[in-house]
Amino acid sequence: MAKKPTKFVFVTGGVLSGLGKGITAASIGNLLKARGLNVNIQKCDPYLNIDAGTLNPAEHGECFVTKDGAETDLDLGHYERFLDQELTQSSSLMSGRVLQKVITDERAGKYLGKTVQYIPHVVRAMQEEILEASKGFDVHIVEIGGTVGDYEGLSFIEAIRELGFKVSRENSLYVHVVYMPYLGASQEFKTKPAQNAVRDLRGYGIVPDVLVARSERAAPEGVVKKLSLFSGVPQEAIALLPNAPSIYEVPLTLEDTGIADVISQRLSLKVSKPHLKEWREVVRRATNGFTSTATIGVVAKYMDNTDTYMSVFEALRAAAWSQDAKLDIRWIDAEALDNPSADVAKAFEGLDGIVVPGGFGTRGIEGKIKAAQYALKNNLPYLGLCLGLQMAVIAAARSAGITDANTAEIEANGKNLVINTMDGQKGKENTGGTMRLGNYPCKLEKGSLAAKVYGEKEIQERHRHRYECANAYREKYESWGIRASGTSPDSSLVEIIEGINHPFFLASQFHPEFKSRPNRAHPMFRGFVKATLETALK
Ligand code: GLN
Repeated sequence: MAKKPTKFVFVTGGVLSGLGKGITAASIGNLLKARGLNVNIQKCDPYLNIDAGTLNPAEHGECFVTKDGAETDLDLGHYERFLDQELTQSSSLMSGRVLQKVITDERAGKYLGKTVQYIPHVVRAMQEEILEASKGFDVHIVEIGGTVGDYEGLSFIEAIRELGFKVSRENSLYVHVVYMPYLGASQEFKTKPAQNAVRDLRGYGIVPDVLVARSERAAPEGVVKKLSLFSGVPQEAIALLPNAPSIYEVPLTLEDTGIADVISQRLSLKVSKPHLKEWREVVRRATNGFTSTATIGVVAKYMDNTDTYMSVFEALRAAAWSQDAKLDIRWIDAEALDNPSADVAKAFEGLDGIVVPGGFGTRGIEGKIKAAQYALKNNLPYLGLCLGLQMAVIAAARSAGITDANTAEIEANGKNLVINTMDGQKGKENTGGTMRLGNYPCKLEKGSLAAKVYGEKEIQERHRHRYECANAYREKYESWGIRASGTSPDSSLVEIIEGINHPFFLASQFHPEFKSRPNRAHPMFRGFVKATLETALK
C-alpha cells in the first residue's frame, strides 16, 4: 500500500504580532495529536540570524534548547509542552540559515552559472527544509513568524504558497490568526483589521481555509457571520479565541469551536475521537482547586520579563499544580542585590524558596551569589539552573572563607576560579552555536537528593553553557557544605551539586526546565516546590 502523504497546516498571522500565533499552532498540534495522529511542528522565522542563540533574551524571549542542541525561539518550548514531544533542530528554521545554505551552494558552484535569486532559489531552499522536517509524519504544522506583509517575511509566505500548491490542495491547509479589537466607546468588536489582514494574505496568493480570531475578551457569535461574509471563510472554519486565564486552556477552547474537526475533514485525515482527558486535568489543576501557595523568589537580571525565563516559569507552574498549589512568583532584582549595602534578608522576607535561573554576563552576578549564600546558610530551598549552579558553588566557596572565589566569565584571571572555562571553549566567548549544547548523560550519586528526586541512576538533560565547575576544587566541596551529586558518566564534569544537611539546595549545570511538561512536572522542580511548601507550613 502506498504510504499516505504528509498533510501540511500552514499558520500565518495578521494585524499585529504577539497574537499568540505560536500557542494557536501548538494547540492545533495538541488537538491533532489527541486524535491519534503523528504530528510534527516547525517555526519559520524571517530573521537573518542563523539561530536564536545570539538573540538578546530581553528582546526576543528565552532561547529554548532542543535535545540535539539547537538554540531556538521560545515558541519551540510551547510546541514541546503542548505536543508533549521532543523536537529537534529541524523544527526551527531562520532565514539566516536558509540564506547561508544558498550562498554556500553558490560558492560551491552548485547553481551552474545561473543567477541566484529569492525566487526560485531561496524559496526552494525553504521548501526543502520544510519538506525534510515533515518526513514520516501524518501532519506537519508550519508556523511563519511575524505578520503577513512584513517585508522580511515575504519569501517564507511565497515558499508556503508554492508548497501548498506542490503538495496539492487536498494535502495542505492555511490557518490565518487575526486580531479583533474591542472599542469601549461603542462597545463593539471591530472586524475591519481582520478583513484587511485576510485581504493582505490573499494578495500574496493564499486563501485561508481557517480563521482564528483573537480578542481580549469573548466576542459574540454574530461576529463569526460578519467575518465569514467578508473573508470568504465558512463560518464553521472560524474560531473565536478570547484571552484565556491559562494558555493551557487554548486547546480546549479551540476544540469547542470545532476547528480541529474542520481541519481533519478538510485534509481527509483518519482520526480517532480526541483524547483530551489528561489535558483537561492539566487545565483543572492550573485554574482551580489550590490547597496551598508556594511563594518563590526568582533572582533575575531581566526584571518582570517572563518571556526571558519562559520555560522556568512553566516548569515552576507545572510543579506547583502537580501538588495542587498555587504559584506566587516574586521578582528579586539581582542587580539591586549587587550593591554591598543591600539588605539581603529583607529582600527574601516571606519567600518559601528561591530560584537562580540561567544567565550570562556581569550584571547582577554578585546579587545571585548573595542569594545562593543566603539560601545555603538559612536552610531556604534553592534551585539553581546552569548559572544558578555556578553561583551556588561560588557562594559555598566564599562562605567557607575563599572570599575571592569567582567564575572565569566575570574575572578571567581570577585567583580562585571555582568555575572555569570548559576545555575547547577558550576564545569562543562571543561566537554563536559554540557552547556545550543539548543532551548529555549524567549519573546520579546513590543516596543523594538528586537521586531521590529523580528516582533514577542516570538521566539525560539539555545543556547550554561555556563554563563548568573546576575539578581542582571538587575535593573541597564537602568542607564547603556541598557535594557533586551528579556528574558526566566518566566523572569528569560536575552536572549537579547539592547542599549537605540542607532541606533542599539543588543546582544543575543543565536546564531541567526544558523537559518539564504541564502534565508531567520535572522531578527537580517538583522536589523544589514540594520543599517550598514544607517551608511555607513552618
Ligand atoms: N554563563 C554561564 C555559562 O556560559 C551559564 C550559562 C547559562 O546559564 N545558560 O556557562
